[in-house]
Amino acid sequence: MDLHRHLSLFLLLQLAAVLAWAEPRISIDQPQISLTDFRMGYHVDPSQELTFEEVRTLPFAEIRNKVSLGTDARVTWFKLILDNTSDSDQRLFVHLPYAYHLKSVAIYQELNGELAHSDVLDMDRIADTNMMFRGTAVYPLTLPAGQSTTLYLRSASYSHQWLAIEVLDAYASRHTLVGINTDIALMVGMLLALVLYNGLLYFATSRKENIFYSLYLVSGLVWIALSYGLIASVFDIYGAAIFKLNLSLFTMPIFLLLFMMAIFETKLSYPTEHRFLQGLIALLGGTLIWGVFDISAALKPASSLAALMMVVTLTVGISLYRKGHPLAKYFLLGHSAFVVFNGIAVLAYKGLIPLSYVSGHGVGIGIMLEALTLAFVISHRIKLLEDIRASQEELKRQASTDPLTRLYNRRFFFPEANYLLEQAKAADIPLSILILDIDHFKRVNDLHGHACGDQVLVKLADILKEQSRGSDLIARLGGEEFVILLPDTNLLEASQYAERIRGAARALDITGSLNKVQVAISVGVAELDTEQESIESALARADKALYQAKNNGRNQVYRADAAVR
Ligand code: GH3
Ligand code: MG
Ligand code: MG
Repeated sequence: MDLHRHLSLFLLLQLAAVLAWAEPRISIDQPQISLTDFRMGYHVDPSQELTFEEVRTLPFAEIRNKVSLGTDARVTWFKLILDNTSDSDQRLFVHLPYAYHLKSVAIYQELNGELAHSDVLDMDRIADTNMMFRGTAVYPLTLPAGQSTTLYLRSASYSHQWLAIEVLDAYASRHTLVGINTDIALMVGMLLALVLYNGLLYFATSRKENIFYSLYLVSGLVWIALSYGLIASVFDIYGAAIFKLNLSLFTMPIFLLLFMMAIFETKLSYPTEHRFLQGLIALLGGTLIWGVFDISAALKPASSLAALMMVVTLTVGISLYRKGHPLAKYFLLGHSAFVVFNGIAVLAYKGLIPLSYVSGHGVGIGIMLEALTLAFVISHRIKLLEDIRASQEELKRQASTDPLTRLYNRRFFFPEANYLLEQAKAADIPLSILILDIDHFKRVNDLHGHACGDQVLVKLADILKEQSRGSDLIARLGGEEFVILLPDTNLLEASQYAERIRGAARALDITGSLNKVQVAISVGVAELDTEQESIESALARADKALYQAKNNGRNQVYRADAAVR
């Protein structure tokens, strides 16, 4: 009998313990109240139709005061039991800091088992109450000494249910409301600066990637400002009026994919990767259009879409990296940061990991890190393009010059000479041409060696450069034969010029293997009939004069006869 009584007492105590555990109570026992970490009750209402009278009789499960319950818990009831165990009346403020993203909040306050007060905060009509302060819903109450009160909160969200509740005194309440969102404003400010800078870059370079990057940043900053409550707290707008701005969640990846296509030139160089990116854009575009009509519904698969997007973009990034794209590693670095922090955020929104500052701000942190690396990718690409242009210019220079003398070659000479002829014709100025050939050059090679012959060619080219004006066109036609086109120069002036060169060549002081090298040149000069004659014809006349100079003993200048009309 005694044993039996003991057993019942034990069971009774157990039951009491379970009951006490199931109903967490919040004790208000000191004058300064700032309760930001406590336990409370919650009850998900999938039917979304339960009334306060029905809910108050149902069991509530225990949970932390910061919750993230996913999209299945769109309507959730929370229960807080406050005990004023102090010996003075307490003025309290119940804060809901993430209220800005909700559809509505209803609050029911019970005193001694009776409904004492209720309030509904509809985010589309916040003017009806005075509960909303810069995105935070505030419910004030006074709890007399020694009394208890129970609060039931019905939170209705558009998509993901995430919510925090804090219980503060007047001082803590004011202090919290004043400091709201300075961190988010800083993030958005940084992104805005990048948008501006990149817009300017676009005007300077007209490159598509700058515009896509800017639009990606704009989408990102809109989403950050929206979901972290900056828009709500700055502009005091809530509910359906701004909920559509969640479309930025779809435009952001679309612009990122377009950016990838532009910066990696996937269309031309990586067709397989290009098709993957295109497919994903089509999918996101479809969801975007769906979202224009029903954003709440379109947001439901958002987390799965985000996961797919991360898989595709990372795979493409890795593939481009393995194919040796020089920008892929930087992209991968930034994008991995984006993926990691977004992954953390998605887990938190789905309620799989606890909501903290980092997990709650994961998307924003990810966007910031990626935005900064992509800015680096853009500037690095400018450098790569600059290198390519420089090497193309070098190739062009190599194609048009003779490597030994660094004079223009035959290929460059003729088009350029024709251009100068057109100019002379238009300006009605004389134009002369001279062709010169080294005398007995074969002998120089034979006597002093090929290297010495090369040296003679270089020295002669230097004379030609020194003696000419900037407007003259000098080229090595081949072997030891050079041509010079002299704008604004008549036959007489051209022959005088030719004489000067002949004299300078003669005076060249080059020592061969044993003795001094004898250098001499012969020159043929012709003045063009710019109205009638071609470069080739004038060159033929000059060549004839050169032939005469050779025949008549070399080391002399001969003028061609006037062009035959
Ligand atoms: P002429 O006075 O009649 O012009 O006699 P030449 O020996 O100068 O004429 P020819 O055309 O018979 O010989 C030209 C020589 O120039 C033959 C060739 O070996 C030499 N030569 C051509 N190009 C080069 C070169 O780049 N370097 C050197 N060292 N010699 C060259
Ligand atoms: Mg010769
Ligand atoms: Mg020759």
